[in-house]
Amino acid sequence: MSQTLQAIRGMNDLLPIEAELWEQFEETIRDWLRAYGYRPIRMPMVESTALFHRAIGEVTDIVEKEMYSFTDALNGEQLTLRPEGTASCVRAAIQHNLLYDGPKRLWYMGPMFRHERPQKGRYRQFHQVGIEALGLAGPDIDAEQIAMCARLWDDLGLEGIRLEINSLGQSEERARHRTDLIAYFSAHTALLDADAQRRLHTNPLRILDTKNSAMHDLVAGAPQLINYLGEDSLKHFEGVQQLLKDVAVPYRINPRLVRGLDYYNATVFEWVTDQLGAQGTVCAGGRYDGLVAQLGGKPAPACGFAMGIERLLALWQDQGRRHEPVAPDAYLVHQGEAAGRFAFRVAEHLRGQGYAIHLHCGGGSFKSQMKKADASGAPLALIVGDDETAANAVSVKPLRRLDEEAEKPQAEQVAQEFEQERSPVQMRVNFDELADRMSELLFTMEDDNGNF
Ligand code: ATP
Ligand code: MG
Repeated sequence: MSQTLQAIRGMNDLLPIEAELWEQFEETIRDWLRAYGYRPIRMPMVESTALFHRAIGEVTDIVEKEMYSFTDALNGEQLTLRPEGTASCVRAAIQHNLLYDGPKRLWYMGPMFRHERPQKGRYRQFHQVGIEALGLAGPDIDAEQIAMCARLWDDLGLEGIRLEINSLGQSEERARHRTDLIAYFSAHTALLDADAQRRLHTNPLRILDTKNSAMHDLVAGAPQLINYLGEDSLKHFEGVQQLLKDVAVPYRINPRLVRGLDYYNATVFEWVTDQLGAQGTVCAGGRYDGLVAQLGGKPAPACGFAMGIERLLALWQDQGRRHEPVAPDAYLVHQGEAAGRFAFRVAEHLRGQGYAIHLHCGGGSFKSQMKKADASGAPLALIVGDDETAANAVSVKPLRRLDEEAEKPQAEQVAQEFEQERSPVQMRVNFDELADRMSELLFTMEDDNGNF
């Protein structure tokens, strides 16, 4: 007996209603990115494993335990499904010498893969919108990226997402902090969990990022990186804060915000909500001034962030956003062989004029076709029978109210009227005049918001 195949755990199908909501979200995203001068880039979903080891860092959750890595059985290459986009984006910028004529603002959107325990807001294939500004050093770009997020929450009508920021300074500053951090944690080894003990001498900063609540008190008392920042780092961080104040974006400095990837320095930030349970970070990013050089490019400062689309959409829906039905302009019903050919031609003609036409396929009585027309949400039914075909014309029937008083005609009633030789509400329109007549009708039927 054959077993029914299922999607891989933690990797979700998006069925049409949900996929349409995603498209509505993506439209907002594209407009928003254009407003800030970001241009699209699309990278492959598979890269050399070495890229992520070098960029993200060996001692990080992602590289230690979350990557889908495999050997290509056909040629022995070590490959990885991308767990995030920054490494690939920087790799592409270096490979194609994108920075040769100055800084670039880039964005991408798509699936990322991490082998985590699937739960609400945490999947094995999830989706991010990411932006990367390459070649810009000032605090203005950090602040602009943060303000950008605030504007997106506003565009989407999202509330209750708060901003946390911190500065990771430069590598010498982190090195001094690291020495003190190791000394502090070494004095409390009994309180460290297995992960933390392992990381104590390889990547102690990562211990601050722990999700283990038993260690939160210990972490709260640890030396804070912000106290190790020199003049330049402080000036940059203050510059970011000043600009955020200038455009009234509230923030909180969280000294324990260190981010889970090694490439970050200077400004880091996260946008967090309490409304999604444990998976409350919807967007995270910061500066990574060393990465371009580290991956073999000419040194260039950089700053970027990534947001989790599933988490944002969950929030959007929790806060009342509903899928807006997507309906065709007209549903075309027909009966008879000649009528079927004529209907096919009518549909193509109208699509050529810019209309969305759902041509009925699969036969059936007029009554059942009219029911489908009604269910499609289309404001108009177009009807083609033998008479219409002979007259090179189409009968047009409004399926929604024509004015405030008019009752919405019922599919069955329409079918009946049709069988009884046309109703007065229905009009026959010559093929050549059809597009214009439809335009007039749709205009009359629309409400102020463009709905029917
Ligand atoms: P978390 O602390 O939740 O594991 P992270 O620090 O690993 O997040 P980043 O690498 O910064 O996450 O990715 C940016 C954003 O991508 C996150 O803030 C989140 O919204 C989203 N994200 C990360 N991992 C997942 C996942 N497994 N499923 C769904 N969304 C995710
Ligand atoms: Mg994670």
